[in-house]
Amino acid sequence: MLRNKKVTSMLLIALMVMGNVFAAMARTTERIEPSSWWIGFKEPTVQLMAYGKDIATLRPEVNYPGVTIERIIAVENPNYLFIDLRIEKNAKPGNVQIQFKQGNRVRTTRTLELLEREKGSAEREGFNQSDAIYLIMPDRFANANPDNDMIPGMLEKPNRAEPYGRHGGDLKGIHENLDFIKNMGFTAIWLNPVQENDQPQASYHGYAITDYYKIDRRLGSNEEYKKLVDACRARGIKMIMDMVFNHCGSKHWWMNDLPTADWVHQYPEFTRSNYRLSTVSDPYASKADLDLTVRGWFDTTMPDMNLKNELVANYLIQNSIWWIEYAGLQGIRMDTYPYPDKDAMATWMKRIKKEYPDFTVVGESWISNPAKLVYWQKDFPNQDGYNSYMKNLMDFPMAEALGRAFNEGEGWDSGLQRLYDVLADDHLYRYPFHLVVFAENHDLGRMMHFYDGDINKMKMAIAFIGTVRGIPQWYYGSEILMGGDGGRSHAAIRQNYPGGWPGDEVNAFTREGRTAEQNDVFDYLTKVLNYRKTSEVLHHGNTLHFIPQNEVYVYFRYFEDEAVMVMLNNNPDNNTTLEMSRFNEILKHYSRGKEVVTGKQYDKLDKITVPAKSALIIELR
Ligand code: CA
Repeated sequence: MLRNKKVTSMLLIALMVMGNVFAAMARTTERIEPSSWWIGFKEPTVQLMAYGKDIATLRPEVNYPGVTIERIIAVENPNYLFIDLRIEKNAKPGNVQIQFKQGNRVRTTRTLELLEREKGSAEREGFNQSDAIYLIMPDRFANANPDNDMIPGMLEKPNRAEPYGRHGGDLKGIHENLDFIKNMGFTAIWLNPVQENDQPQASYHGYAITDYYKIDRRLGSNEEYKKLVDACRARGIKMIMDMVFNHCGSKHWWMNDLPTADWVHQYPEFTRSNYRLSTVSDPYASKADLDLTVRGWFDTTMPDMNLKNELVANYLIQNSIWWIEYAGLQGIRMDTYPYPDKDAMATWMKRIKKEYPDFTVVGESWISNPAKLVYWQKDFPNQDGYNSYMKNLMDFPMAEALGRAFNEGEGWDSGLQRLYDVLADDHLYRYPFHLVVFAENHDLGRMMHFYDGDINKMKMAIAFIGTVRGIPQWYYGSEILMGGDGGRSHAAIRQNYPGGWPGDEVNAFTREGRTAEQNDVFDYLTKVLNYRKTSEVLHHGNTLHFIPQNEVYVYFRYFEDEAVMVMLNNNPDNNTTLEMSRFNEILKHYSRGKEVVTGKQYDKLDKITVPAKSALIIELR
């Protein structure tokens, strides 16, 4: 019985592979990746992947001043050849012809475009705690180019009526709304992956990449992406590219004809990751559990890539450098960061830092226990000696606390105490300022969902995220009170921005198009973020906080002689007047204050009333 089942599934796989091969013949011809590279990297060697029928039976040659072949690597599939090309600093820009010969005859040629690096490229500044990040799902934000909704030959057609379908949002839609984003106070944009996802279904989210070197044509072109980054830079907005090393899309072109059997982790039948990330840091974890975590597939359409294979790791590492250099990025957000081979990921971070010392990468480390999370932060003294070299992590412990704190009454470890306790764990982190603070993203429930539509809780969250240590991150649409239960459906939390599509009845990009409640929250966020933009104390200041009492949590950010005091009153009904003498150890240095959002002046600081379910952000003088 078991054997029969196996035979059937093998037959199925064989049929699928054959189908794929025919599709591949139409789609995949001859390739070289990367097809362009730059002169003057610290690491002078680039590893090219040349693809073509029986290319490994040919001998590559290069005749270009300053460029030499260092190493040729053949693999088990003769349709691939990996070529280490050394590029000297004195090489000139131009097209490097790589001739593939049989005897003296040139059978095929590939071209590598050699480019000069932009001035200051290596010194670029990444995003940091002076920034505020706006996360956008590009298919769902704005459709400024309906002509690219339907691309002939691509597997999924547009269908706005299908929650998991492609809705037509694009890079142009983001480009045209950059001032809208900027005016809210954001200084960085993170887009869910924009590389090609030529999958037959649910390809809109971007996490099943089918071509690492190409922007999905339904979003735009590589050139449009570069232009978008330039337009961002002109407005003081940094671009963070979402990258995925752990898995590719099942319709990635190489899935039809893998370079090596171990390019992806293969199983007789679909084998899913157990998602138990603690197995990586757990000193007692079994190999069986750990293997399943890091080698199991993330999803049926997402083959798990084997970064222990150096060719795979090199391919991805170079791809990330290619995008930084090509598009002019200021940051990367690495998806499913703890899932691939951790040593390869550390090698990647070291390489990025070697080429771009001030560049920023943040790892998506979906771990809500700080003791487990900190394993992944650079320089934590892990017992197994592992150093990730990754400074920035997503602060999932804080996200979880933010989801619950404003819904609960005060208790030993509930209500505002949750926020206090997460900050109290900061002793674990060597780099607490490098944590990215958020309440929601494209995977979590919307704030309006878990706050039961209470905009007062939402405003308290804004005050907290905007003033706590770390880098604030916001998810598009929350400023207009988009709801959605992420646990029930991903589509629910990835809705279209009203006004982003031609013919939309409501245009929430304009004040007139928003309700009074939406404008209330929109304006609150705008005030807080724009204040934060120029507030050095919120960027760099130390934190001093006091245990929440009577449902009020008070903390300070202070830096040299500047300070900001934040007061959160979690009581749903009662305004609370605080005797401020409890905070004397810091307040004695200040006599007056001004509330950031309302502009209200406080000429004395002896007693302050915080309205029910609200926050005060008071700049002290
Ligand atoms: Ca479009």
